[in-house]
Amino acid sequence: MIPRLLVVLDVDETLIYATDDPLIDRCDFQVGRYSVRCRPFLAEFVTRLSSFADIAVWSSASDDYVTDIAKNIFPSPDLLRFCWGRSRCTRRFDPERYLEYWVKDLKKVKRLGYTLDRVLIVDDSPEKIERQYGNHVRVDPFVGSDADATLPMLAEYISSFVSAANVRAIEKRGWESRQRNTAQPGATDNPGDAQ
Ligand SMILES: [Mg+2]
Repeated sequence: MIPRLLVVLDVDETLIYATDDPLIDRCDFQVGRYSVRCRPFLAEFVTRLSSFADIAVWSSASDDYVTDIAKNIFPSPDLLRFCWGRSRCTRRFDPERYLEYWVKDLKKVKRLGYTLDRVLIVDDSPEKIERQYGNHVRVDPFVGSDADATLPMLAEYISSFVSAANVRAIEKRGWESRQRNTAQPGATDNPGDAQ
């Protein structure tokens, strides 16, 4: 029997968009000085995902901010296996760009007893998962569009890993276009094919 899938979710630009611009025209809730807009279908996504996988949150934002956001977007704190912020990330330095950045090292998840063969991490920023890219499901950054339809497609895609013994062995790049093609028989990425 293979262990239940664990899906570790990023927060900013993956599940929500937060801005301190007071002129945002619609916001779902407020955290401190931030107006927060949920990615469309977020509640349905959480319900669907939790029906077949364990869920956790890991963001490189401050711990307090992540806790406050999580309280607003998950129906109960018990739903999350863990809710981690920046204090659990590893600081890295890119000498070429002379920039600091934060990495989520899944070894810390492994220490909780999870096998990384059954862990997916959903994040819009690939550099944050550079140590375990085989676990990474990349999403396009959400910056507030009402037309965004990523989450229903993502739930469907993640459900395809339920019985995968080793999720890391499966190619994930390009998953969105493959899902779109599955959802619309006959659809194609290549406009030339449609003619
Ligand atoms: Mg992000």
